[in-house]
Amino acid sequence: MKTLYSQLPAIDSLLRDPALQPLLADHGTAFATRQLRSMQQEARDHIQQHQTLPEWHLNWPDEALRRIQQQQQSALRPVFNLTGTLLHTNLGRAQLSDRAIDAVVNCLRQPVTLEYALDEAARGHRDRAVSALLSELTGAEAACIVNNNAAAVLLMLAALAPGREVIVSRGELVEIGGAFRIPDVMRQAGCKLVEVGTTNRTHLKDYRAAIAENSGLLMKVHTSNYQIQGFTHAVTEAELVALGDAYQLPVITDLGSGSLIDMTEFGLPAEPMPQQLIAAGVSLVSFSGDKLLGGPQAGIIVGKQTLIDQLQSHPLKRALRVDKMTLAALEATLQLYRQPETLREALPTLRLLTRPAQDIQQQAERLLPALQQIYRDDFSLAIAPCSSQIGSGSLPVERLPSFALTFTPRDGRGSQLVNLSQRWRSLARPVIGRIQEGKLWLDLRCLDDESALIQALAS
Ligand SMILES: *Cc1c(COP(=O)(O)O)cnc(C)c1O
Repeated sequence: MKTLYSQLPAIDSLLRDPALQPLLADHGTAFATRQLRSMQQEARDHIQQHQTLPEWHLNWPDEALRRIQQQQQSALRPVFNLTGTLLHTNLGRAQLSDRAIDAVVNCLRQPVTLEYALDEAARGHRDRAVSALLSELTGAEAACIVNNNAAAVLLMLAALAPGREVIVSRGELVEIGGAFRIPDVMRQAGCKLVEVGTTNRTHLKDYRAAIAENSGLLMKVHTSNYQIQGFTHAVTEAELVALGDAYQLPVITDLGSGSLIDMTEFGLPAEPMPQQLIAAGVSLVSFSGDKLLGGPQAGIIVGKQTLIDQLQSHPLKRALRVDKMTLAALEATLQLYRQPETLREALPTLRLLTRPAQDIQQQAERLLPALQQIYRDDFSLAIAPCSSQIGSGSLPVERLPSFALTFTPRDGRGSQLVNLSQRWRSLARPVIGRIQEGKLWLDLRCLDDESALIQALAS
């Protein structure tokens, strides 16, 4: 045992080893030394437990390099999203347009007029440019931008109805993934939730009966991630606005996703549009930047100038405001909407949403032979129709016809599937599919680079 310990190299001599010099130059002596120390400790533990040297003992420099490279990998690894869910929250939702990416890079490299109005040489408002664009696109008087739509809902409630009652239909008390629940947000904002109607049916008279001295707001929430079907009734925004007007109560809507274009024109299921609600007289509408809009994570609130002013001057706005990267990406994304005829090409979210199934099928046919070569021994591969979903709570029951490559284990064992998906997750650029019905499915809707996928799977 003693002799084994004495075979461990000293840190000093390792640091002088010519093979380690490139590593020291790239990563610094301090970081490399910490790494070598931890390897030394690991080797000692190994000797104590197994009375042998660890396998990697023969080549300390290579092992040190491998470990350092692994630690220097970003926690935000690019992946192939072949899950069949387009706006996958855990995979970062919308992919940004080239124009938005360029805008972000541009604002990072040099000082920018974030809160500086050039014409007055004075302080300008950081949301001003995006607010003007949103007014143009939605017909709203003004806009306010915060970190995400959850923050938007919190700010609207906290700024407009602190200590007061907010009236919402029972059928709209939604929970969105990641602990966003309307009743909890109400409490955090210091509002009192007043539920009206029933789970499946709420009428205008229910709202009217609930209006009292301490009422602050009427609120509608888009039930974005579920649908109630059958014997149902909900009050429209326009009806609620008329009621609000009679009692001088603002109406606010949490739209969730929202879309600035008519999705049916692209052959997609209808999604409510903020501009329709503004036209119906809703005081404030909030929606996400990184859902169907196809931009960066952000919460967008559009509506009446006086109410937006109240939000802008509320202390929470300072805590929830976005940075220049988000504003740059959002501005560039919104500018694309000025030109609807080129939007499909320019905006990745819309391009992927509208990919024809036939196009995806042809892609599957091109990929099949190459992948069969790699996996033939253990799996039978096939092309199968499947349905993609939009994700992030957008259009929950709608499906988009798509095609997948399926992998069925020849020995019929489920453990083969788990192993395969694990192996794919450990690739330099992980491939993420889904296991269903005894097969591993790769829905190809979101696959841009076919040869990169083949290369990744062949490695
Ligand atoms: C998605 C969603 C939210 C949360 O939006 P984030 O941008 O993810 O914070 C809130 N309300 C509704 C109705 C939603 O669909």
